[in-house]
Amino acid sequence: MAECERLQEVLGRIERACERAKRKPEEVTLLGATKTVPPDVIRRFYGCGLRVFGENRVQEFLGKLEFLKDLDIDWHFIGRLQTNKVKYLMGRVSLIHSLDRESLADEIQKRAERAGIVQEVLIEVNLGGEETKGGVMPENLRSLFEYTLKKPNIKVLGLMAIPPYREDPEEVRPYFAKLRELRDDLEREFGAELPHLSMGMSHDFEVAVEEGATIVRIGTLLFGERRG
Ligand SMILES: *Cc1c(COP(=O)(O)O)cnc(C)c1O
Repeated sequence: MAECERLQEVLGRIERACERAKRKPEEVTLLGATKTVPPDVIRRFYGCGLRVFGENRVQEFLGKLEFLKDLDIDWHFIGRLQTNKVKYLMGRVSLIHSLDRESLADEIQKRAERAGIVQEVLIEVNLGGEETKGGVMPENLRSLFEYTLKKPNIKVLGLMAIPPYREDPEEVRPYFAKLRELRDDLEREFGAELPHLSMGMSHDFEVAVEEGATIVRIGTLLFGERRG
């Protein structure tokens, strides 16, 4: 089946990147980034063994969830998140990759408490300082982390970033290294454990793995070019 071959191909490339970096392949989770990918395609990849999928838009996610309820999918939320949509994610996603402001932390805390859960999140960092992208600016990361630490129903597991696009993935390497350093700094300063670095997409995931990614978010390479 074409889907399973594509999945195996990507997993093989992750494995080889791990070998180069002397890391274990089990340390890296492949997340299928499924914005605009229809439910039946997600179901086929699930059939190939992929278990972790990430959605960008809450409305789209809820629609697909309806069709895929019978599958034991580990859903993540990876897109920009409006505070008024947080309530729909509670109990439905294991990890939110895109915490980037205090008001969002307030809302997640409120909704998680109400749902009786501790919501695991990553803080998204805007490494390139790009106005059009989400993520907290690196200089404000420490303060947002400290703020979130005080929220009993939120657990920060690490950092996420979407670095600026570069034709040559090698040019993205310094951004991935930077995210790792920011994570290491927080761990040192706060004595926190931040095991996850969500970084690397179709174009640059091998470099991200070499730089310590624990979650790579792959769309195009698995599901093809999409519109929307
Ligand atoms: C779309 C998307 C991806 C996947 O990007 P590809 O280049 O298609 O692999 C990863 N992360 C986020 C946040 C995305 O929106």
